[in-house]
Amino acid sequence: MKGNVFDLTVIFCGHSYKYELESVLKLFIPATRFSFVYDGENALSIDGDRIIAEKRVDKDAVYFSVLCFIGDSRESETKLVDKCDMPDDGGEFILSKLLFKAMCRITGIIPEWGVITGVRPVKRVNEMLSQGFSQSEIKTRLINDFYVSDNKADIALRTAYAQRDILKSTNEKAFDLYISIPFCPTRCSYCSFVSQSIEKASDQIGEYVKNLLVEIEYTANIIKRTGLILDTVYIGGGTPTTLSADMLRIVMTKISECFDMSHIREFTVEAGRADTITEDKLITIKDCGANRISINPQTLSDSVLKAIGRRHTVDDFYNSFFLARKVGFDMINTDLIAGLPTDTVDSFKRTINGIIELAPENITVHTLSVKRASNINLNSQLDVLKNPAGEMVEYATKTLSENGYSPYYLYRQKNMVGNLENIGWEKGGTQSLYNIYIMEESKTVIALGAGASTKLVDRNGKRLERIFNYKYAVDYNNNFDLMLKKKDEIERFYVNA
Ligand code: SF4
Repeated sequence: MKGNVFDLTVIFCGHSYKYELESVLKLFIPATRFSFVYDGENALSIDGDRIIAEKRVDKDAVYFSVLCFIGDSRESETKLVDKCDMPDDGGEFILSKLLFKAMCRITGIIPEWGVITGVRPVKRVNEMLSQGFSQSEIKTRLINDFYVSDNKADIALRTAYAQRDILKSTNEKAFDLYISIPFCPTRCSYCSFVSQSIEKASDQIGEYVKNLLVEIEYTANIIKRTGLILDTVYIGGGTPTTLSADMLRIVMTKISECFDMSHIREFTVEAGRADTITEDKLITIKDCGANRISINPQTLSDSVLKAIGRRHTVDDFYNSFFLARKVGFDMINTDLIAGLPTDTVDSFKRTINGIIELAPENITVHTLSVKRASNINLNSQLDVLKNPAGEMVEYATKTLSENGYSPYYLYRQKNMVGNLENIGWEKGGTQSLYNIYIMEESKTVIALGAGASTKLVDRNGKRLERIFNYKYAVDYNNNFDLMLKKKDEIERFYVNA
């Protein structure tokens, strides 16, 4: 260990299950530099902090073992599996679980999602539900097989049940449309999206909108030939309200001119930051057909807002929220983040209580995710582990449940503080359809604009293909013709489906 950052060698003997084992290790030691050694023969000559993960095939059985040497601690786990009982993954999951148990003892940390390291834990629950498992069987499996905590198993189940009817009743020809506006007034310090500040990208915006209009029309013509039916629209980013009211009107009008909007069930615009919201823009958004809007304070503490580089105040957020109500929005989401730099448990509790008083229909509680692209310097292992996000999320879960909110979508990201999750809460059956579909990957999402990724799902819900647009506005503009041609894949996919 150098400073607060671990250097750890992972030695693979008899296998190369790097992805899963590295994912498990990151649950415990997220800010770690790993070296990987695949030549297990030399394991004994390697010293320092190290993990040796072995799979040895004998005559009738397969032997798995994990040995951890970290600091002064030594821990090991072993398992013998009869050859005829070997799982399809060759034992990768077995080794992950052995490593998980050894690391729990070494670090004293018990990650609440257990060995579920993926982004969509609820998808796993939905799969078990469709295989006919009962609620209690699923809970038992989550706890015993995946080492998920009782609380997280409950929240995963509540979320899965909230989505069930919506997912079941989806029209097989329905698709969702996502439009990306990848600009923001300034860049928040924790941001890991492709969004650029308007100061840096002001010369790109005009050309970007012009190209986006072409992409909307081009793609809509393809969609007409596939027979797909538009179900929901989501304009996100970035912060779409970085655009002027006139530009917003032009983009939204283009969408409704080019696509058949007659079956649409939900149209969201992510207004996001209060420093971009004006009455003019809200009226435009409403006039152009959006019925759901997101206004995101992230916190109700001015000092935390300052610390994360958002140039608006808590009062600005309140003003935007009341303005949106005045304009007539009756479906408002507010995003919050647990674990922000300088935030405390008490101040986060005040944020949750203050937002509940406002009674938005949806509240999304994110946990801070630390990514390399972010400007936050959280390279100290200790900073990450000391973050009180877990207590904040626990308070949010308890208080929102007590106040009539229910979880309806849940996902995780890489490098989330405390290995927690993001949860969308709703009151009175107001769940966002788009958010559910995007997490379940059960439906086609046509995504336009920079950083957008189209997901094509065939009508059996089985085959999945992706089309990636260029990530940054400048590349999107510079390579526009090339990128536009990639949209032809949509037609090819459905002709072959
Ligand atoms: S508002 Fe969102 S997208 Fe924009 S900089 Fe902040 S975190 Fe990133």
